[in-house]
Amino acid sequence: MEIHPDIERVLVTPEQIQARVSELAQQIDHDYAAVDRLYIVGILKGAFIFLADLTRQLRIPHVVDFMALSSYGRTTTSGAVRILMDLREPVEGQHVLVVEDIVDTGHTLDYLLHILNNRKPASLRTCVLVRKERQNNGVKVDYLGFEIPDVWVVGYGLDYADRFRTLPYVAELKRQVYSK
Ligand code: 5GP
Repeated sequence: MEIHPDIERVLVTPEQIQARVSELAQQIDHDYAAVDRLYIVGILKGAFIFLADLTRQLRIPHVVDFMALSSYGRTTTSGAVRILMDLREPVEGQHVLVVEDIVDTGHTLDYLLHILNNRKPASLRTCVLVRKERQNNGVKVDYLGFEIPDVWVVGYGLDYADRFRTLPYVAELKRQVYSK
């Protein structure tokens, strides 16, 4: 596999990702077997590749919608969160599964869950591709792909300044790329 020159090291290979995505899809199929419509909420832009792979492996009936969130004044550190694009439907009474790319401090997901909970869904769970091994405020992750070290990662949807999103692996970015 060819590795991009700005990459320090690959943390999760494409094969590991695909294997884990299949396991997560099976687990979700199992847990929602009795639900006639799962409302899947992908968080843009970072979750789009994970969401596409995951949902194509689901057998349960589901619909896909998106939200876009943004943090103020952030490149690689978390700030306040705002909604840039909201859902197309009210989620009251629906079974909602949020699909997110990464949990770092947990601040973003925590904020989002707070907003969605106020809309009174029938249930609300989260599926996250990677979580950093650090203090992430105990935010509830129901389905987790991988625990990763506390470094800046890119690939499989994750970016740095909108670059590197379509790399097929999750990898640590060379420090000199983001500390320039
Ligand atoms: P949190 O609010 O959990 O600290 O951060 C979550 C958001 O910060 C993510 O949705 C993502 O946009 C961004 N983020 C945090 N760590 C990383 C990282 O290592 N790589 C990338 N690409 N984004 C990150």
